[in-house]
Amino acid sequence: MKNPHMAHRVLTIALAGNPNSGKTTIFNALTGTRQKVGNWPGVTVEKKEGVIQWRGHTLKIVDLPGTYSLTPFSIEEIVARNFILDDRPDVVIDIIDTSNLERSLYLATQLRELDCKVVFALNMMDLATARGAKIDAPKLSELLDVPVVQTVGNRQQGIDELLSAAVDLALSDKDVPQKRKVRYNQEVEKAIEALQQVLDAQMEDALPYHPRWTAIKLIENDTIVQERVAALAGERGAALLAAARKQRDYLSDRFNDEPEIVTTDERYGFISGIIKEVLTTTTIQRVDISRAIDLVLTNRFVGMPIFFFFIWAMFQLTFTLGQYPQVVIEEGFGLLAAGMGYLLPDGLLKELVLDGIIQGVGTVAVFLPNILILFFCIALFEDTGYMARAAFLMDKIMHLVGLHGKSFIPMLMGFGCNVPAIMATRTLESQKDRILTILITPFMSCSAKLPVYTILAGAFFGAKAGTVIFAIYLIGIVFSIATGRLFRSVLFRGADAPFVMELPPYRIPMLKSLTIHMWDRSKIFIKRMGGVILIGSVVVWGLANFPRPTEIQERHAVDQARIEDRFVAQSAVQTGEEEQDALETWRSDALADLERRTQATQAEQSLLGRLGHGMAPFFAPIGVDWRGGIALLSGFVAKEIVVSTLGVLYAITDDEQSTEQALRGALRASGMTGLSAMAMMVFVLLYMPCVATVAAIRRETGSIKWMMFSIVYSTGMAWLMALIIYQGGRLLGLG
Ligand code: GDP
Ligand code: MG
Repeated sequence: MKNPHMAHRVLTIALAGNPNSGKTTIFNALTGTRQKVGNWPGVTVEKKEGVIQWRGHTLKIVDLPGTYSLTPFSIEEIVARNFILDDRPDVVIDIIDTSNLERSLYLATQLRELDCKVVFALNMMDLATARGAKIDAPKLSELLDVPVVQTVGNRQQGIDELLSAAVDLALSDKDVPQKRKVRYNQEVEKAIEALQQVLDAQMEDALPYHPRWTAIKLIENDTIVQERVAALAGERGAALLAAARKQRDYLSDRFNDEPEIVTTDERYGFISGIIKEVLTTTTIQRVDISRAIDLVLTNRFVGMPIFFFFIWAMFQLTFTLGQYPQVVIEEGFGLLAAGMGYLLPDGLLKELVLDGIIQGVGTVAVFLPNILILFFCIALFEDTGYMARAAFLMDKIMHLVGLHGKSFIPMLMGFGCNVPAIMATRTLESQKDRILTILITPFMSCSAKLPVYTILAGAFFGAKAGTVIFAIYLIGIVFSIATGRLFRSVLFRGADAPFVMELPPYRIPMLKSLTIHMWDRSKIFIKRMGGVILIGSVVVWGLANFPRPTEIQERHAVDQARIEDRFVAQSAVQTGEEEQDALETWRSDALADLERRTQATQAEQSLLGRLGHGMAPFFAPIGVDWRGGIALLSGFVAKEIVVSTLGVLYAITDDEQSTEQALRGALRASGMTGLSAMAMMVFVLLYMPCVATVAAIRRETGSIKWMMFSIVYSTGMAWLMALIIYQGGRLLGLG
């Protein structure tokens, strides 16, 4: 029955569809984990493909970029179209957002015109039904002569039927029927006919694409097709293009409009006809809930305040709600430290494990709840559709920079982690816009910096900490916009491309998808704790503990003996129980204090201490001492390490308070003030991104030059801003 040769051929199945139609969801359902992600050759649009075995066939599934049309205006459209034209997939599955049928059918009719084999997946069937729409799928299939399968991607419904329809069509020898696609009005059809004849006569088999389609594209002034035809036709090219121009001019004259506008209108006319046939709305004119919500959320006056309220609430939640689980994690690490302290013999290994590893990783681990909450909020914004509204609201402000609101989405993602944020700029069409967005995104404060603010703001601003942190984030946003403005007028002159902001309907998010999104991103944080943060903490511990001059140990022993002697001597003369208690308290305080002083002296004389003192002149003007300077330097590895380095340098070994509180106390005792804490936070906010981000900048801009530029600019600006805050504040008598 089955042709044995066929079974061994790899069938290529391309997934096309509008953005947000559920393409990626279906792609994942089809390929599971067997997917490869890369870039399309020559362009930075993401390419996803996966190879699967299905009923004896080898299927290669390719996820095309999401587009609304196949006009060659954006990179996504060009990539999708070229793939279908040149790579000739055996079948294209068009994922249709059934709840937005009209918009989806525009791409569908264009695919139909391309003469490739198409299967429609009527996805989001559940949403369409929920909105009271009824779709006559068999009728749609008949009208366009395309196999139609109904799917609900996020519940994996209809996936197998879809594959089966696609493979059947791919293996059939059926030609793509010509009758069941857009017919234009007589004049246009005549022009197409005439041009098609010229093409047939001049190029015969040399024409790579279907002559009717080529003729339509030439009439529509499609530059890519013009170039291809000209290149293939050689000397006849000029004559061909002239013939096309003649038809164009004739139509322009006749309709008093560009031909491509006429054809677009007619496609929409064709689509309304289909819609009339296949779509019935069962409920009487349902109120479009999304539109109603948007009346408020994107309102000219209240939209912005609401947006800022959401962001503020997000940080408030992150800060306050996160405190409770922190206690549990603290205690867990406390138990771990106690257990290891009991198990390990005194010596270097014990110190390394307790003060280096557990201390270092522990100070960072306590922030996991904060980070989970932050990522949960971001996932909530994305999954409800509010993120797109945020971009819409920011559009005006972004235009000040010469970017559009679309650039704001990577920037918002930067609140989570700059690495995926920088990768998200791939959705921007123009290279200039991309580089500009990449350069300003790191000023959006990433979640790894949150621990630093939490410690510093908590130590110096008490109950106002949440608001101070919010202010820091705001400064970041303002700074990134100001930088964008500056760069746009100095480095990247030129107008931005016009662009329509897409507002997908609001969706009630599913807890499962929220959790997955949150977890996906938090996972990175947890991996970092076992990787870069662990290693960083050990290195910092090593640098802070070596060399260890014996004098320090000797002096420590002497002082310790002195305390003990005094304790014994005093004990002998004290008799009352109360005095004895007071004496014991004095002894343990004195010993703890000695321990701290010894460790501080040790740290100061260590390699790290010497490095810190060497750099002190750089940090002194901004009110940061040598320990702070070292901590900031270590932040290049990962921003979380700033906190753990402070922990090591301030030698927090207090059993009675949590390390977090102890570190705050030590910072307050170190002579830092609210003002210098503020300067340090701003420095952390603005200075050079971490190693991973720097690498992403290099990769995504494709140049070391921009990477170096980003490092130098951000660090220079950080220093300058911190200087202004610190010295300015001092002039005003604030610290
Ligand atoms: P893409 O932009 O086309 O890749 O779209 P995605 O695959 O990222 O899907 C966008 C959103 O729609 C996600 O939140 C999906 O979970 C959701 N989604 C996908 N298919 C369906 C469906 O059939 N019904 C509903 N209600 N949601 C879906
Ligand atoms: Mg996608």
